[in-house]
Amino acid sequence: PVTCEDEVAAAYAAAGIRAAISVPLVKYDRLAAVLTVHSREARRWTDEEAVLVREVADRIWSAVERARAEAGLREAKATLEQQVTERTAALRASEARLRTIFQTSHQLQGVVALDGTLLDVNAVGLRSIAATLADVVGKPFADAPWFAGTPGMSDDVRHSIAMVAAGEKVHRHVVVNLPTGVRSFDFTMRPMHDEHGAIVAIVPEAVDTTEHRQAEDALRQSLKMEAVGQLTGGIAHDFNNLLQGITGSLDMVLRRIAKGRTGDLDRLIAGAKASADRAAALTHRLLAFSRRQPLDPGPVDANRLVRSMEDLLRRTMGEAVELDLTLEPALWSTLCDHNQLENALLNLVINARDAMPDGGAISIESSNFEPAEASAARALGLGPGEYIRIRVTDTGIGMAPEIIARAFDPFFTTKPTGEGTGLGLSMIYGFTRQSDGSCRIDSEPGRGTTMTLYLPRHHGETAEDPGLARAEDAAEAEHGDVVLVVEDEPVVRALVVEVLRELGYDALEAEDGVTGLDMLRSARHIDLLVTDVGLPGLNGRQMADAARELRPELKVLFMTGYAENTVAASGFLKPGMAIITKPFAMDALTTRIRGMIAAGQHGALPQTPPG
Ligand code: ADP
Ligand code: MG
Repeated sequence: PVTCEDEVAAAYAAAGIRAAISVPLVKYDRLAAVLTVHSREARRWTDEEAVLVREVADRIWSAVERARAEAGLREAKATLEQQVTERTAALRASEARLRTIFQTSHQLQGVVALDGTLLDVNAVGLRSIAATLADVVGKPFADAPWFAGTPGMSDDVRHSIAMVAAGEKVHRHVVVNLPTGVRSFDFTMRPMHDEHGAIVAIVPEAVDTTEHRQAEDALRQSLKMEAVGQLTGGIAHDFNNLLQGITGSLDMVLRRIAKGRTGDLDRLIAGAKASADRAAALTHRLLAFSRRQPLDPGPVDANRLVRSMEDLLRRTMGEAVELDLTLEPALWSTLCDHNQLENALLNLVINARDAMPDGGAISIESSNFEPAEASAARALGLGPGEYIRIRVTDTGIGMAPEIIARAFDPFFTTKPTGEGTGLGLSMIYGFTRQSDGSCRIDSEPGRGTTMTLYLPRHHGETAEDPGLARAEDAAEAEHGDVVLVVEDEPVVRALVVEVLRELGYDALEAEDGVTGLDMLRSARHIDLLVTDVGLPGLNGRQMADAARELRPELKVLFMTGYAENTVAASGFLKPGMAIITKPFAMDALTTRIRGMIAAGQHGALPQTPPG
């Protein structure tokens, strides 16, 4: 058998090798290389030769290792260089991308140094003021053309820069007059931090919301038009029926009089009056809906108001519903329109009744309410301050979230046609907002509903508004109490004058503001001016103002049917002035007039007879 060694020997012999010496090189416990020296002659190696071969092997190995290490180093250096090149290219590409994003953004963006100097601004930012980078960069941001056309804006921005430099974020909606036109923006300024968290710059950003706002306005307008259409369509029908009731009855009256049959005119006249009252209620709902109903705010004791309505409410609710009143004895006075609050309560109770077809319970609670924190007030849509709270709770069907979301919308109703107008809550909402209060719904299906009204606390004098004084508290007309009536509509003027004379007042009349003012300029004694607001030429308001210059204590009662053009809800009435809205019941007018004159005679507003 041929051994391995024999095979090696044979291979050596074939190559002419007769002797060999091999030196293994072991590195880190592994065979790394072998150095073999061959000889053509068979021989025996001396020790010196073996040492020499080992030494040669060692030297060759160190040379190989050094060469290898150098090659590795060269390679590493090349790789490093390549890496640096690649990384730099990637950074440049990333920077270019960010710059492109910055430049092509639809938002106006920039960078401002902490001292307020503008460092950079993007293309759309520059376009909005038709400027170049060189025009604005390096100058104070607050003085840039974005703000120059809007009074107060530069100061505002300067102030905001200081806030942002201190770490705050500023966010507001602004409408600015740019060189390219008036635009509205969502404007933010936020701090830019470095990797250690230090603030290094300020980033202003502005999103142009002009179109968005216009679209919203257009939508709102079209919804309004739709609502108006619905309203006019729905109400014209009812109104015609009511007019029919009035004109029909009056026709009959005239015919009976013509025939001399004046026996039972009462019934016909009462019918006409009932129709007219219903028509008046209808126009009041319309005015309230348009939120232009002139409020006649005065101090109101809400507990007293609730108690005075108790009978009416019980009658409205029917027998299957229980009523429970829980009134805070030390309830603050509130400032609002007495009639509107009555109306709101009645509406809430009717809604509660409608939600309990099989009966149940309604509770009305009053309490004082002082939001603990401004945020709590804001959540309710209230400013900081003190309020009274009126709650109407029922045990009825409750409301699903989607109904709550729409319940305040005008015309939103879930009731069958003819049973709901969908105006009740919309009106209540308008009334509370106009009174600087608010209202909210808490309800769940099957668990009843709580409606809460918030109305502002009234701090001033708590005496009843002279206009609200009860007839029985008022003095009877004394001989010589003089009332001047200014009204251009002859029928209304004649009616008012007639009522006044019936009550024992001396009534003067004028058909327009100029004539009225002439009478007020005379030396005549006049206790009260009752005037229409919408007069031709000099209107009622202007006449009253002019008259007050001569007679500062003159008491004035405005009559108005046109809410929107002359009567702003607040600030219209000065002390000693009151409003009554047309159409009014004659009783309401006399109550008002007596109350106002009585207030003067009791010393609240002494009348100085003009010299
Ligand atoms: P209307 O009473 O004419 O329907 P409102 O504006 O008063 O109009 O109310 C709007 C809707 O809100 C009602 O149709 C009803 O669906 C819901 N709603 C109001 N009050 C209550 C209540 N107390 N319980 C349940 N649902 C209510
Ligand atoms: Mg209702």
